[in-house]
Amino acid sequence: MTNHLFTLYHHKPLMGSTLRGASQYAYHTLEKEEDYPPVTSSRNELCQRLGFPHLVTLHQTHSSIVHRVSEENLWYFLQNPLIEGDGLWTTLPDILLGVFTADCLPLFFWSEDVVGIVHAGRRGIQKEIHKVFVEEVMKAGYDISRFQFLIGPHIRQCCYQVGEDVAQEFSFTYAIQKNNGWYLDLEKKVINDLQNMGVKRGESIPICTFCSDPSLWYSYRRGDRHCRHLHFIGQKKEKKN
Ligand SMILES: [Zn+2]
Repeated sequence: MTNHLFTLYHHKPLMGSTLRGASQYAYHTLEKEEDYPPVTSSRNELCQRLGFPHLVTLHQTHSSIVHRVSEENLWYFLQNPLIEGDGLWTTLPDILLGVFTADCLPLFFWSEDVVGIVHAGRRGIQKEIHKVFVEEVMKAGYDISRFQFLIGPHIRQCCYQVGEDVAQEFSFTYAIQKNNGWYLDLEKKVINDLQNMGVKRGESIPICTFCSDPSLWYSYRRGDRHCRHLHFIGQKKEKKN
């Protein structure tokens, strides 16, 4: 597996996900001191392989907190990997932004100027983190119609069974009934909301973490309690000739 650490979806900006087996990249339980050295060294290795000097991640809590990484606060984020939040964006080049998931939706956003990434699970989507992200970028003066989005691998409607109460909370528009249960389509909800806000161009990676190749994808529901995929996005500084 080690020659197979990540998969890329897009090269400009660069975005992708670490795969199962790249588990040191995927740790996000940085609360324990003994995790710091392996996590730091494997993150550095990932950055080196991708050609980026820095990776910024957050302490994710299924919140609707979105941070902008700027020249002024970059150092603060790098020194404090446990800042709470579930979304990041920046206009800076040469910074990788990362979120961790195992079934939740990784949401990548980009335009000519901006790259962003969001961890959006059921609870985050209920708190509308995807909409908060768009609002914050708009408030900062960027034209949201120029953005594209990509939804990465997550647990899809084929496998995401929920109680009737949850299906109702989300609206039955996003649920189907089969095998005596309700199955929720979080992706459809996110796409609808984004398109209604003017982010028209987007697509989804057609991989369900629960029922796709378990040698590549972690699934919390299938029993992976501690490992996560690290999803990343960043833009490289244009080389001047
Ligand atoms: Zn599935």
